[in-house]
Amino acid sequence: MTTAQLPHPRTLTDDQLRGAACVWCGTTVTTATAVDLGARPDPSCPWASWYPRACPPCAEARP
Ligand SMILES: [Zn+2]
Repeated sequence: MTTAQLPHPRTLTDDQLRGAACVWCGTTVTTATAVDLGARPDPSCPWASWYPRACPPCAEARP
């Protein structure tokens, strides 16, 4: 799990919120390639969490 800053969930697409696309670049990721960033609290919904995922190049660029 990374501590890198993530984009605000409100700025992301549904695919990015579902973990179907990289949170940073929007590239579609699959279970095989995605880097799971762990559960994050949703800033606009404190009792909820979302589960961002990233493509490997973006995850490596943000340790
Ligand atoms: Zn990416």
